[in-house]
Amino acid sequence: MDITLQQLGYIYAKDTPFEKRALVDVDLHIPSGSYFAVIGHTGSGKSTLLQHLNGLLKPSEGSIQIGKMLIPAGKKKLDLKLVRQKVGIVFQFPEHQLFEETVLKDIMFGPMNFGVPEQVAEARAKELVRLLGLPEEVLQKSPFDLSGGQMRRVAIAGVLAMEPQVLVLDEPTAGLDPRGRHEIMDLFAELHRTKNLTTILVTHSMEDAARYADYIAIMHEGRCVVTGTPREIFADEKTLKAYRLEVPRIVRFQKQLEQRIGRELPELALTEEE
Ligand code: ADP
Repeated sequence: MDITLQQLGYIYAKDTPFEKRALVDVDLHIPSGSYFAVIGHTGSGKSTLLQHLNGLLKPSEGSIQIGKMLIPAGKKKLDLKLVRQKVGIVFQFPEHQLFEETVLKDIMFGPMNFGVPEQVAEARAKELVRLLGLPEEVLQKSPFDLSGGQMRRVAIAGVLAMEPQVLVLDEPTAGLDPRGRHEIMDLFAELHRTKNLTTILVTHSMEDAARYADYIAIMHEGRCVVTGTPREIFADEKTLKAYRLEVPRIVRFQKQLEQRIGRELPELALTEEE
């Protein structure tokens, strides 16, 4: 599912003394099936941008096209049910949104609300629990009796149970230790491949952007200032410096290795451990 933002602008509390312009003239094309990272400092507009991706916020200016659905600026009422189903968002600390008595009910909640038959929703929940590396017994447990890492996986399963075509990840590893972070990021990479998802990652981590994304966009003061492949983005140290962003370690290692062997490697191939 292609996503195209055209001259997208967003103003919080418009026409009040608290008016705040959070997005300015954002032009962005996210190709179907790509893994796209959005990076930038706190306050640069990342979270405002991601809330446009499933219609939680509507453009103040410009438009956003999600697959066949065009969401223009303006007051016109639109039926966004389909967009909400096709674009799943894993918010920061998604486990805070768990609420049902059992894990099974929690994962089934979204699909059941969208009219998916109970048996189908249950089968999806069982498959997802397995896919996310959780033991089957968790299905009958209260989500609040699980560990933090398990709760996060259950919350992610709840988003995936809607079978979205686009998965938006807002700092999905916040609060996890390094091992948990790698596990979750590798899991998303696997889901991206096997479920043919368009994945949009909003992150502070240059390492994750370098390692997982096909394309990166840099946000700065509400504008999308640069887009490119990780190689392009992280080769341009002057631009990175201008936006106070760092060259990730895996890119520095790769450059050293390439200098040593005297040729460029086809992609960012190293992991931190290597
Ligand atoms: P990021 O996700 O990159 O940290 P945000 O999209 O949260 O950036 O914020 C962009 C700008 O909009 C910031 O200046 C922020 O203070 C402002 N902002 C965010 N949410 C609101 C809100 N609900 N009301 C008013 N201003 C907001």
